[in-house]
Amino acid sequence: MNVEQVQNTHPELVSAETPVLQVQNLEVTYYTDAGRAKALDDLSFSLKAGEKLGIVGESGSGKSTLALAMMQMIKSPGRIEGGQVYVDGTELMALNAEDMRRSRLQKIAYIPQGAMNSLNPVMRIGAQMVDAVISHVENESKAETKERCMLALESVDLARGTFKMFPHELSGGMKQRVCIAIGILLQPQVIIADEPTSALDVVTQRQVMETIDRVRKKINAAVILIGHDMGLMAQFVDKVAVMYAGRLVEVSTVRQMFTDPQQPYSKALINCLPNLDNKGVFQGIPGLAPSLLRLPGGCAFHPRCELARDICKTSRPEPQSDKSGRSVICHLFDKEAQNEPSS
Ligand code: SF4
Repeated sequence: MNVEQVQNTHPELVSAETPVLQVQNLEVTYYTDAGRAKALDDLSFSLKAGEKLGIVGESGSGKSTLALAMMQMIKSPGRIEGGQVYVDGTELMALNAEDMRRSRLQKIAYIPQGAMNSLNPVMRIGAQMVDAVISHVENESKAETKERCMLALESVDLARGTFKMFPHELSGGMKQRVCIAIGILLQPQVIIADEPTSALDVVTQRQVMETIDRVRKKINAAVILIGHDMGLMAQFVDKVAVMYAGRLVEVSTVRQMFTDPQQPYSKALINCLPNLDNKGVFQGIPGLAPSLLRLPGGCAFHPRCELARDICKTSRPEPQSDKSGRSVICHLFDKEAQNEPSS
């Protein structure tokens, strides 16, 4: 199916500006000795060029699996069992292994969790950057490749001298910037950053997020930020997607999410954030995230949901969208009420 056909069959995806990224009905299952775990369950969303999406959820909700599936980097015993990922009209799932390898970095870049620890300690930063370029670009002179790397380093506020340094000579924040520089070497249309600020102090976290935002503007890439920190996300993204048990249970604008969340799990996550009214008393979410091997029937959140009804135990809620584009998976979501103008 090409993008036009997708837009014909899913008119809700058509926007004034064609999305640069469209994820449609993505499904991933892990076949383990303990059983079958559906890690991504019919996931769909889209992003326009320059748009920023934050994906939040508890550990094990499927956030990193989503990133790996989009990059076609799911390893056995995992399997992508369905869906499409379009980047600027190219269906990544339909590419052969060599074309997909070339598309990584060129069309879609992935900065994995703990990326800064994956830098080779015995190779200079420049050599690692040059390796990344020459494995994707042909017919570029050495001088052009070096200049490309220098410009990427400057884009993330690192001095040109970083090119000659070894990873151990850099701080954690500088190493993370090097990883971002590698991610933007070929100016991809989509950048996925998985927990880009974990293990960094709060000041450096902010600097790294600002760096990502600046390079996003410079190359007009769509950015997906994966993380736990809703407060940090709120400052940098346009849209937030909340993940629970392999599903996107709510996707909305930052403003909608923080002022008027609709899905009970989203509400519970927002309530976990400290604010001036709760005077240091933190609210948690009762219970534990379910094992993907043994998901509760109906709505997977029902054992923890204070608003659960009988229907929630037996009937699986499906995504519903209102006119604003907010998408919610919950039996209680009344999209018609959301569409009515507020008086
Ligand atoms: Fe709670 Fe039911 Fe909504 Fe699930 S469908 S979040 S259990 S109210």
